Amino acid sequence: MLDQAYDAVVIGAGPNGLVAANHLLDRGWSVAVLEQQPEVGGAVRSDSEVHPGFVHDTFSAFYPLAAVSPTIEGFGLERFGLRWVHAPAVLGNPRPDGSWAMLHRDRDVTAALLEEQQPGDGDGWQLLCQEWDRIGDQLVGALITPFPPVRHGLGALARLRSVGGLRFVQTLLTPAVELGRARFGGESPRLLLAGNAGHADIPLDATGSGLMGLLMTMLGQTVGFPVPQGGAGALTRALADRARSLGAEVVCSSEVVHIDVQGGRATGVRLADGGRVQARRAVLADVVAPHLYGGLVSESDLPSRTVKAMSRFRLDPSTVKVDWALDGPVPWASPPPHAPGTVHVADSVEQMTEALSQVAANAVPAHPFMLCGQMTTTDPTRSPAGTESLWAYTHVPQQSTRDAGDGGIRGDWGHDDKERFADRMQARFEALAPGFGSRVLSRRVLGPHELEARDANLVGGAINGGTSQLHQELIFRPVPGLGRAETPVRDLYLASASAHPGGGVHGAPGMNAARAAVAHSRIRRVTALGSRR
Ligand SMILES: Cc1cc2nc3c(=O)[nH]c(=O)nc-3n(C[C@H](O)[C@H](O)[C@H](O)COP(=O)(O)OP(=O)(O)OC[C@H]3O[C@@H](n4cnc5c(N)ncnc54)[C@H](O)[C@@H]3O)c2cc1C
Repeated sequence: MLDQAYDAVVIGAGPNGLVAANHLLDRGWSVAVLEQQPEVGGAVRSDSEVHPGFVHDTFSAFYPLAAVSPTIEGFGLERFGLRWVHAPAVLGNPRPDGSWAMLHRDRDVTAALLEEQQPGDGDGWQLLCQEWDRIGDQLVGALITPFPPVRHGLGALARLRSVGGLRFVQTLLTPAVELGRARFGGESPRLLLAGNAGHADIPLDATGSGLMGLLMTMLGQTVGFPVPQGGAGALTRALADRARSLGAEVVCSSEVVHIDVQGGRATGVRLADGGRVQARRAVLADVVAPHLYGGLVSESDLPSRTVKAMSRFRLDPSTVKVDWALDGPVPWASPPPHAPGTVHVADSVEQMTEALSQVAANAVPAHPFMLCGQMTTTDPTRSPAGTESLWAYTHVPQQSTRDAGDGGIRGDWGHDDKERFADRMQARFEALAPGFGSRVLSRRVLGPHELEARDANLVGGAINGGTSQLHQELIFRPVPGLGRAETPVRDLYLASASAHPGGGVHGAPGMNAARAAVAHSRIRRVTALGSRR
């Protein structure tokens, strides 16, 4: 049962809400976390509903950003049961000629495989890794700390000369498709860089995609793509257990329907069941921006500039995710040299670009670019020995106007539509792994409606809390401002992936919001003490 008042109320128990709660608890605040779903985790959850004995990650699965996040690392979640595990190889992309573009955790292995395919690419890979060794930690730090990233920005500047100065800056600004072409002769490094850029919705021929591709590729190369043993949910359960151990009240099936604002300051929340919870110091919303500014806070409590700016807010594309329980491993016609956890399915960078362009043009893609996870290969606890817990997801338009494929998909994502699209996705596996269909014990298709029903932040199936394109990043996220967690309502902080630096499980929006709340509270206390003297 909830008390009536806490120092902070955190709305939403996704990774960002739980990170925020943990930081506030560490600072001695009393905290209530209110979660709409029956369990914690947001888009970091696992379940067993696909097939008996199989665990599937309901949404996200691989966590390189968590692995480099000082925030998540600093919580010591191993004490709460978290254990990271890795696949034999990080990532593979099967190619039509039977070869694979492979990223192995050992850079010498990656380089040797690339060199075999295209002389010179092995050395090119080693050079890219060396440049990342010199500057990568500063770039990651700059991305996951509050804006402006003064410390890491200066750190990166100081090291810039050692990686080629302006030439390296140009590398960062080069679109993903060009980056691969500029630095490598063969197709495989291009596929790795472009495929990793495809984890965000930045067009592969636009500035920003190269940085994304480089970041994810080099994280794969340096820290791998780890997963929590037993399922993604082990990560957020550990965060919630840690919060509870510090006294947090974590309440599930508790939807917040309104944020109370008095005298311009957030004072508490109202629940769907009619209950109220007061926030003495702050309300932190792990809530997607269109919901925060489009209902939870009354329009009359917002400046008109925010309401107007939100009308220009853009979601990222929608998503269809398919989970399979297989009675054996994926029967690749041409098996990879090392078994990868993550698999990208695209015949070429051109096909990948075409699929993403079709989505941008509101067309259901004919040959969807698929991000896939061989989860039992990565973590043998996910399903019985000899079987595979597999998933693939791909992006589709928020509003489809046509089908670039056989014309059979309307894009309403009702039952028939999504099953037919899942058949299209499955056909991609069948082409690369003949007999795939005969291994399927069970299949589950989560279309945009099912994703949103399981996590209200996934509006229309958008997975990143808003587009990651440059015009909505940094100081433009979620609306033009300072790129910080503060909102126009005093003591209300945006703690979700809709805030800088956006989607991915690194905890930065949650941490930024919690730090801002603590800082403001301290300033107010000092000011109040001063005025009493
Ligand atoms: C299919 C998919 C695959 C992904 N793959 C990866 C991946 O492999 N690696 C990676 O790093 N990232 C991945 N992501 C992105 C990552 O999961 C998200 O960026 C991350 O979960 C965002 O965290 P969050 O805490 O901001 O929001 P969420 O995880 O969405 O959590 C928000 C929580 O708030 C709750 N909530 C919302 N409104 C209310 C309300 N009014 N009252 C109470 N509770 C509320 C929701 O129920 C939810 O639990 C993926 C996402 C999806 C959907």
